[in-house]
Amino acid sequence: LESFDVGAIREEFPILKREFDGQQVVYLDNAATTQTPDPVVDAMSDYYREYNANVHRGIHHLSQEASIAYEEAHDRVAGFINADGREEVIFTKNTTESENLVAYSWGLNELGPGDKVVLTEMEHHASLVTWQQIGERTGADVEYIRIDEDGRLDMDHARELIDDDTAIVSAVHVSNTLGTVNPVGELTDLAHEHGALSFIDGAQAVPNRPVDVKEIDADFYAFSGHKMAGPTGIGVLYGKQDLLEAMEPYLYGGGMIRKVTFEESTWGELPWKFEPGTPPIAEAVGLHAAIDWLEGIGMDRIQAHEEEIARYAYEQLEAEDDVEIYGPEPGPDRGGLVSFNLEGVHAHDLTSIMNDYAVAVRAGDHCTQPLHDKLGVPASTRASFYVYNTREEVDKLVAALEDARELFA
Ligand code: PMP
Repeated sequence: LESFDVGAIREEFPILKREFDGQQVVYLDNAATTQTPDPVVDAMSDYYREYNANVHRGIHHLSQEASIAYEEAHDRVAGFINADGREEVIFTKNTTESENLVAYSWGLNELGPGDKVVLTEMEHHASLVTWQQIGERTGADVEYIRIDEDGRLDMDHARELIDDDTAIVSAVHVSNTLGTVNPVGELTDLAHEHGALSFIDGAQAVPNRPVDVKEIDADFYAFSGHKMAGPTGIGVLYGKQDLLEAMEPYLYGGGMIRKVTFEESTWGELPWKFEPGTPPIAEAVGLHAAIDWLEGIGMDRIQAHEEEIARYAYEQLEAEDDVEIYGPEPGPDRGGLVSFNLEGVHAHDLTSIMNDYAVAVRAGDHCTQPLHDKLGVPASTRASFYVYNTREEVDKLVAALEDARELFA
């Protein structure tokens, strides 16, 4: 794969030039949110300057234009992940809301005592907490596929857990803490062999690798705009059309109905049935522009770049005797982030020292508390990379770590 000009890409992100105390920011918090390139900001600003109006096909010109842009954003997302069409693409607020949509619309109605929801030990709270709550309300059991020493899923345990009582398997595609890339196609096949559905949390996958929902055969697949060079305030729920047709909405209101009387209401077409109220219009325009921008570079090239930087970071950190890294070694099943701890220094202290060097990393449990319990640490520091990061930035991270060590020695 031919590489691309990272310098030219960085020019599209004025924020990367910001300085704090005379030091240029080193932004390594991309798993939390990515930066937004000028073409995406421009697309949203054009929307507000040129054709801002409410959607749902108003009669006037501006509403027509806004409606077309909003609808086309669904088509663009569908093409990007190889869904069949806009009917299978629901815009939500974020991955979390996409999880909740399925949990409420499908889970609350379909699950009961004796049913099993199978998650993994590396689920983000977005799915873990949500399915726990649905389990409590419906009486369904929630069980977790174990991870092994290296932070990979124990697939023997998966085959043991996923059985004829299983109603849904919900798994993270790329772990936001361990970086593990899970065999989501295999998990989906296992679910289907037992008549269960699969929900894949792609929040850390769609931003940095080609994702084909048909190849995975996922029943549901979720991700967020703000982690893929797009805006905050918009997320996607992909769902197979026949499943979405059969599901009841869980949010009600205007824009999603076919017919309303004082006694009862019926629902409109997909995807609008699940998008009541004024939707995130500017954000949809921004997401469309972000996908154009990403595909302009090429998802396979973005993946290769990110993995190369993450591998470099892994190797630099691994060379430090007192650094513990979580998750698998660099390879095809590891994505573009590295979580670690420096012996004797709390992750929050380490991250705060890094901030003195304008190195932006995240400390905490990364919304995977049970996983951190299992790792036996309260928190970790996470460096996560994207298309605009460089090896020099990794060197600054490591230099800051070395200074932190001396400070705390
Ligand atoms: N799942 C994973 C794997 C994530 O990394 C995140 C974001 N940290 C989420 C879900 C939740 O995404 P959002 O905050 O956009 O809803």
